[in-house]
Amino acid sequence: MASMRDGQLIELLKDRFGFSSFRPGQLEVIEAILAPENVLSVMPTGAGKSLCYQLPAVYSEQKTIIVSPLVALMDDQVAALSELGIQVSKVHSGLPRDENVQQWRQFASDTANIIYLSPERLMQPRMIAALQKFPVGLFVIDEAHCISKWGADFRPDYEALSKLKQFFPNAVIAAFTATADKATRADIVEKLTGGDCKVFVKGFDRPNLSLEVLPKQNMKIKLKEFLSERKQQSGVVYCLSRNETDEICSLLTADGFNAISYHAGKTPEHRREAQNRFMTEEAVVMVATVAFGMGIDKPDIRYVVHTSLPGSVEAFYQEIGRAGRDGKPAETRIYYGLQDIVRRQRMIFEGEGSEKHKLLEYKRLEALIGYCETSACRRLSLLSYFDETSADCGNCDNCLNPPELEDFSQLAKLLIKAIKDTGQYFGVAHIIDVVRGAETQKVKARSHDRLSVFGAAEDYEKQTLQTMTRQLIGNGALKVNLEKYGALEVAEFGRKIFQGTEKFMAKKVSKVPKASRKSQSSASSSSSSSSSASSGACRHPALFAELKKLRLELAKQRSVPAFVIFSDKTLIHMANEMPASPDAFLSINGVGKAKLDEYYPDFSDVIAKFKAGANT
Ligand code: ADP
Ligand code: MG
Ligand code: ZN
Repeated sequence: MASMRDGQLIELLKDRFGFSSFRPGQLEVIEAILAPENVLSVMPTGAGKSLCYQLPAVYSEQKTIIVSPLVALMDDQVAALSELGIQVSKVHSGLPRDENVQQWRQFASDTANIIYLSPERLMQPRMIAALQKFPVGLFVIDEAHCISKWGADFRPDYEALSKLKQFFPNAVIAAFTATADKATRADIVEKLTGGDCKVFVKGFDRPNLSLEVLPKQNMKIKLKEFLSERKQQSGVVYCLSRNETDEICSLLTADGFNAISYHAGKTPEHRREAQNRFMTEEAVVMVATVAFGMGIDKPDIRYVVHTSLPGSVEAFYQEIGRAGRDGKPAETRIYYGLQDIVRRQRMIFEGEGSEKHKLLEYKRLEALIGYCETSACRRLSLLSYFDETSADCGNCDNCLNPPELEDFSQLAKLLIKAIKDTGQYFGVAHIIDVVRGAETQKVKARSHDRLSVFGAAEDYEKQTLQTMTRQLIGNGALKVNLEKYGALEVAEFGRKIFQGTEKFMAKKVSKVPKASRKSQSSASSSSSSSSSASSGACRHPALFAELKKLRLELAKQRSVPAFVIFSDKTLIHMANEMPASPDAFLSINGVGKAKLDEYYPDFSDVIAKFKAGANT
């Protein structure tokens, strides 16, 4: 009876593992494995997947083989289990030969019924033959997304595991991963079980992670600012390449940050040492490529920053999933620019694989750009990718500071016209040069300075034009044609905008007239009459400073990052508006009902004092 077994399982959970209750989703998966059924369980990082297979293995006492992609992961789990008095074996390439032999004997002689194996060890013909002599009950495939080319970390070693079902038709196969969208799930199920599999997908929502996306301009300066406000915390900065990783790490180290670099080009010793320091020291910045992080179980990673567009939504979700495992607030942010999109597209275009594969990859990239460009709640965008929904989260930049949308159809038409008039033959940079009226050699050589669109957008910042172009690509109005070296082309939605049957709504940007642009950068506090409350200009820097001081105090009291109380933008808006009533306070961007109740008294106090001081 299941209920009787449930009782035994709970007892085992308490006695052997020392936990008082199952976490959401764990018992269902354990039940299914014992039923016995093949399972694929998709649960977020930190949800407790290991227990879902360790407990049935201990309970059933059947021969169990656990496959894991990383030696470090195996070592950690084996160590943790021996702490609990559970005898397990492990065989992998990091151990000396006689140690492996000794470990194997322990398993073969039934001293241990569980063995951890790397996939390449498991799939060796000799190992398969040896295992076939036992009644193997269960194969566990941890980090199962590694089997799929759709997944974030495809490994050929894992693909070979698809033969297991033929070699061991009677064994249960249980696969686990933290990230797999529909396509990846289907792929895992097909490869491991041929379709005979129960799939569990448990909550992707991680409400304690805040979500933010910023343009890449001045990334290094912005990154340093961000990190210097978080010197007491540990976090990860993901970079695109080994070079960038080293460069940013030395930049930070030179500035006195406790930064470590980690990528596949470092020696195993360096990597082990880096990982150790990250796990044990306080307040470390891990600067790394995506080679870092799988299976990392550090509870207090307070931020995960991407210096470029991540590899995919799945990869992104996997990477930010390492933050805030203790359930306390943690921050995520991406810096990204137009070049990132083009680079990703090129990688797909020049990569291997069939046309169908490439097409799907483009779709995935679109989803990622969609996440970055959305003006709605980012969590909604992220969860909907995994077929989940939620209400607006109140913990992403768009929820906290809803971007004001403006009709940019005119500007879009201008860009589209420039693209058409130049024959849909040129990339982003040239198109922007043309509409801004830049007399570059290329412009002159092609006589593009004689076009009517030449200089037609000279009032706009280059940055604005880049943002608009990105959003036009993001919403499918424009396409980047890689066969034509990244030339911009007008797509269906773009044609509709051009004809005026569709509007192009985009995030509002402050338009800065060319003449005043240079003088402005030096004098940051001088108020300009045109600045609206929502623009970045702060009219009362002294009050802003006071508000920031209060925010820091409150943040310390509550041991949360200052950002989760109010963002800088909210404080600037507050300083500009000086709300004197609860209603006025509520109208500030980033203030909701909960924050009104929580913070109105303190903040209105500071504002009132400032006003009184200013009037005397
Ligand atoms: P995942 O593999 O899903 O990322 P782990 O299996 O590494 O997560 O588990 C994360 C943490 O949760 C571990 O420290 C583990 O001991 C703990 N844990 C797992 N199950 C429970 C439970 N039922 N109650 C309390 N803690 C648990
Ligand atoms: Mg795990
Ligand atoms: Zn949100």
